[in-house]
Amino acid sequence: MPSALKTSPSLTVRHLMSSVEVARAFRFFETHADAITDEHIRICSIPASPFGERERAEYLSRKFASLGLTEVEVDEEGNCLGLLKGASRSPLMVVSAHLDTVFSPGTDFTVVQKGNKLLAPGIADDGCGLAALIALVQAIQTEQIRSEGSILFVGTVGEEGEGNLRGVRHLFTRGRWASQVDSFLSFDGPGVERITNRALGSRRYRVEITGPGGHSWGDFGLPNPVHALGRAISRLAAYPAPKEPRTTFNAGRIEGGTSVNSIPRKAGMEVDLRSTAETELRRLDAFFRRAMRDAVDEENAKRRAGDPELKLKLDLFGERPSGETPVDSPLVELAIETTRLLGFEPRLDQSSTDSNLPISLGIPAITLGAGGTSGYSHTLDEWYDPRDRDKGLKRGLLVILGTVGLR
Ligand SMILES: [Zn+2]
Repeated sequence: MPSALKTSPSLTVRHLMSSVEVARAFRFFETHADAITDEHIRICSIPASPFGERERAEYLSRKFASLGLTEVEVDEEGNCLGLLKGASRSPLMVVSAHLDTVFSPGTDFTVVQKGNKLLAPGIADDGCGLAALIALVQAIQTEQIRSEGSILFVGTVGEEGEGNLRGVRHLFTRGRWASQVDSFLSFDGPGVERITNRALGSRRYRVEITGPGGHSWGDFGLPNPVHALGRAISRLAAYPAPKEPRTTFNAGRIEGGTSVNSIPRKAGMEVDLRSTAETELRRLDAFFRRAMRDAVDEENAKRRAGDPELKLKLDLFGERPSGETPVDSPLVELAIETTRLLGFEPRLDQSSTDSNLPISLGIPAITLGAGGTSGYSHTLDEWYDPRDRDKGLKRGLLVILGTVGLR
């Protein structure tokens, strides 16, 4: 990987912290705190439900263009991109935050201010990441900070739930920047200590079992989809999931049947499988698929001669790879040193974020908090407190400049 990191991460950060440009940018974050919060409120007031991020992406692209980024576009998937060109095209770092929220269309995204807190769905996750992107571009441009490598700022779509990382997946696999990115940083949520360098992988399935259905008394003996589903859940529940690497499974939603005295035609469920290790996730996934088939076979084996069979359908509707950016990689070391030099205790963390995708491709990637504090994430009571936001922005700026190089 081409990197501007020629010395140790600690020396790199010290050098950056002694430069006048960085000092000016730091002051910018402190003196523009209110303006940054105003911008935060503006972008979070624009609704952004899963698969409904368009308006917010267009707002961000206008913002990027007005701040002098080049090659600004909303791509085929809906991501908003803008390039800050350095002395050369590489190393190229993607700096991102996600546009989407978990909230359905029709949600009221109005931001309410109460004391020091801002209240709105998505105000922290990932409103503070989007505010960080804009504030970083503003500081870099206003203070005329020139970099060696280039920075591609991206507002991604589809980070949450059923979005299934579609934005970042497009960016790294089909988009026009696909093979050019050397490192990845995403701002997601608040805080200034967390460094997410490990990706929590997951697979999500919709299971559907269908059959002929009939009368509970008159047709007794026909295979029953709910009975088969019961067998399936029982098999899954018996899986010996290891504690280390942490591996989990959950049948989170079940449905099926129409009345107490009918053999149902259909039963189904949604299942979430997770593991911190890709090998364990694959093992659990294979077990799950076999358990579903065996359960349906078992129910079919009991049916009367000549009766129709139950049919099984498995739909993989969510897939997030796991993996990690090693602790001794330049990017993680840089983030650790930066956090320390700013006076905080770095906390390495594992989570499911946009970084999962680049990590799975072997591209160094981390997710950082964007400063400030928050609570009740993913609920309608979500709040964000922007006090000390500047610490998160300073950390972000140092990690970016430490990676692409200050000219
Ligand atoms: Zn998020």
